[in-house]
Amino acid sequence: MKFKISVPVETIKPYEAGKPLKELEREYNITNAVKLASNENSLGFSPRVTEAVKAALSRMNRYPEPVAHGLCKLLAERFRVGVGNIVLGNGSDDIIALLAHGFLNAGDEAVMPRPSFLMYEISVKTAKGVAINVPLNDYTTDLDGIVNRVGPRTKMVFVTNPFNPTGSTITRGQFFAFSKKVPRDVIIVVDEAYIEFVRDKAVFNSLDDPLKDPRVVTLRTFSKAYGLAGFRIGYGIMDREVAEILNRIRQPFNVNTLAQVAAEAAVQDEVFLSKSIQITHDGIDYLRSELTKMNLAPLPTQSNFMMVDLRTDATKIFKEMLGKGVIVRSMKSYGFDTFLRVSAGTKEENKIFIKALKQVLAKK
Ligand SMILES: *Cc1c(COP(=O)(O)O)cnc(C)c1O
Repeated sequence: MKFKISVPVETIKPYEAGKPLKELEREYNITNAVKLASNENSLGFSPRVTEAVKAALSRMNRYPEPVAHGLCKLLAERFRVGVGNIVLGNGSDDIIALLAHGFLNAGDEAVMPRPSFLMYEISVKTAKGVAINVPLNDYTTDLDGIVNRVGPRTKMVFVTNPFNPTGSTITRGQFFAFSKKVPRDVIIVVDEAYIEFVRDKAVFNSLDDPLKDPRVVTLRTFSKAYGLAGFRIGYGIMDREVAEILNRIRQPFNVNTLAQVAAEAAVQDEVFLSKSIQITHDGIDYLRSELTKMNLAPLPTQSNFMMVDLRTDATKIFKEMLGKGVIVRSMKSYGFDTFLRVSAGTKEENKIFIKALKQVLAKK
């Protein structure tokens, strides 16, 4: 490299996205491939989204609204917060980056589980911060471990609830015991990308009692339960002063017009949302039952995906599944060499996955 890269950036491992369907179909010259790799919504999205997007096309020569007013009002009413407590992002990925850039000086620390969602570490290092990684404890977030690594340079901690990739959760009691031990001047980012899928009533939900703790920044997304991953829109709910900082540094048009209208339509369609959640729960139950019958060991999950131990090299199995037109995730790069992660899809897709997995494993 001709140019000197900044030191933290040099250590960033590139984000590994799930393989896109189109790419697999091109490479293997197949059609009708099934993607259960990125925890997307296989059902699609609300028909109201299609209408709203069509209607907005005629305005696409104009810049977006800098603040999507209609959407912010709906979210503010739903969660009983002020519009000034909401920050919209080009996916919640965007908000993660804004937090890192808004609050980290060079050398400041952010503590997070390892492995976890790669965007935390990528954003922290891009902001010249230091990512402090705390290993999981039996596939769950080690909250005491995180507290123990908080030091004088720690500006923020990240927790994910439910956790990606294991599906584990943090209960209300666990969260409050944890937050009591975190210093007053440390931001607690609670990433709730999958919270809509939670069935266990004991799981912590930071918007049950929003803004109670000014340190808590809640991250939510339209990419999963609402099915809008391709539009790119997510939001954060946070203390007004924190929101002001993020709004000061974000790109003025970080959320495009189609994403704004899509999300505004999506939040108003509760029927589609409940249908998505129901199909996901059915899918998770079906996958668990089939995988267990195959003598495999799926981990418990409160999310729309599950990790399963194949007790053999998962990357090999992952590649053979690709040949059968099924995209899942090998968890090898996360340090779980024998695990796959599979998202719950439609009934049909889940069946195709199980059938393909049976065929591939039978060959071993
Ligand atoms: C999918 C996901 C997100 C959401 O990302 P977007 O940028 O909103 O699509 C955030 N956090 C975790 C842990 C995720 O898995």
